[in-house]
Amino acid sequence: MISHDVGSAAAHIANPCGHTICGECGFDWIARNKRAPTCAICRTKLIRAAPLIPNIAMDNTIAKHVGALAASGCVDWQPTGAKHKEWAQRRECVLDRLSVWGS
Ligand SMILES: [Zn+2]
Ligand SMILES: [Zn+2]
Repeated sequence: MISHDVGSAAAHIANPCGHTICGECGFDWIARNKRAPTCAICRTKLIRAAPLIPNIAMDNTIAKHVGALAASGCVDWQPTGAKHKEWAQRRECVLDRLSVWGS
């Protein structure tokens, strides 16, 4: 699921259902259902002990898209641009949350 046209950050795969979820939407959803976290798409109960696996392919696709925007001359999406910086920060934040999932 990509809920943001551009700038979705650190997509990951829900366990056990296998849905790909936008990092931020997934964790926003989990934060609202802390006691019994579920998949943001199908509401399957997530397994705490099982990892939420980063979806590298999806992440790379988004990174390429961001790169294409920068290459097309969109200043905001250049590496020094505001949108790029903000996106990179959100991505780091989600990756941190992925790394502490289940612990
Ligand atoms: Zn999202
Ligand atoms: Zn699911």
